[in-house]
Amino acid sequence: MRAIVHTVGCRVNQYESHLLAEKLAEGEAPGEVHVVNTCTVTTLADRKSRQLIARLRRDHPAALIVAVGCGADGAGPGLTRAGADLLVGNRDKERIVDAIRRFLVGGPPGEGKWGDLDGERITGREARVRALLKVQDGCTVGCTFCRTWQVRGPLRSKTPKAARAEAESLARAGHPEIVVVGINLAQYGEDLPSRPTLTDLLTSLLAVPGVRYRLSSVNPDGVTDELIALFAGETRLCPYLHLPLQSGDDAVLERMRRPYTAAEYVARAEAFRRTVPQATLGADAMVGFPGEDEGAFAHTVEVLDSLSPLNVHIFRYSPRPGTAAARFAPQVPAAVAARRAARLASLADGWSRASQERFLGAEVEVAAEEVAGDAVRGRSENYLVVEVRGCAAPRGTIVPARLVARATGHLVGVRADRTQSS
Ligand code: SF4
Repeated sequence: MRAIVHTVGCRVNQYESHLLAEKLAEGEAPGEVHVVNTCTVTTLADRKSRQLIARLRRDHPAALIVAVGCGADGAGPGLTRAGADLLVGNRDKERIVDAIRRFLVGGPPGEGKWGDLDGERITGREARVRALLKVQDGCTVGCTFCRTWQVRGPLRSKTPKAARAEAESLARAGHPEIVVVGINLAQYGEDLPSRPTLTDLLTSLLAVPGVRYRLSSVNPDGVTDELIALFAGETRLCPYLHLPLQSGDDAVLERMRRPYTAAEYVARAEAFRRTVPQATLGADAMVGFPGEDEGAFAHTVEVLDSLSPLNVHIFRYSPRPGTAAARFAPQVPAAVAARRAARLASLADGWSRASQERFLGAEVEVAAEEVAGDAVRGRSENYLVVEVRGCAAPRGTIVPARLVARATGHLVGVRADRTQSS
């Protein structure tokens, strides 16, 4: 089926777009089809999904435009008004070809059943260096600002056996790094009969040789002592953890319904950094949540300052219709939230710089994502952006590098094996 897949949203959506593209490639072509894998996590994401659909409608008036995923479930009428011909929700996403066929003969597009995650499997024949491997879907935490858990359905985990088989395909396709993704990785395995943990899953994945693994965002309650010990003893587990903080204030965390306190967050992050060689950290922080006063914001700054993360993704809270927090008071004025976001962004630059400078002189392994002349650029195992100079290596190669300088936004390295032999 000649279909182009467009993606808005998170890494789980990116994985699913890859899955959609592989499924659509097997089907028969009813003409030009555009599939938009939508997101509804914020009002901005809803708007982006609508704008993309409206642009496709304008540029391709005769095409079939299909809106799939979280937006189709959570904000469908707006997507239809923007120009989508067909909405396919998360339940029927993996049966996209059937949904389009049924629609074309005038039938209902979906079965409305949640599928087994072991049935979601990609082969990995795509251009990106880092492959994504989805192992988990759904979330039962119920954060008061979040729409995602409302549209992602029940907890579903891929069995370690199925995940390992998929990782084998991805490694065979030449990906040197696999990023393990899920909606809430801390809940991995809770729905499976043998209750495997994230540590069990990674142990199983490590049986696949020739590939390194990275965890995408994981809530701090998922960072157990066993998981940290596995990272500490295994160089093929990338020593970088992205731990969503959201707020460093316990009262705000409680109103957000996040499953940890600020002290617990710091304890998990510090244990990881203390125990795992060359570890770095990333964080999400939300400013302007209802009731966040200057004191609460100062607590967020304090927590992040104590950890000096390499990356901080900063979100300005905006009320999402259909969430509990949209009715909370007092809402923080937009100008105050903007000021806090700007302050945090400027502090985050400093933390990032400090985090990078800690590694000057260290040796890292860079997955070459861009090649330009005799330089390659990519991410080290601990997620530093590194440009390795004087080194012509094909994309996808893992290049050992010694970090020698800091440039704007990245580190500069020289090839480590060459340095040693000269
Ligand atoms: S943990 Fe909270 S923010 Fe994350 S998906 Fe679940 S409900 Fe949403």
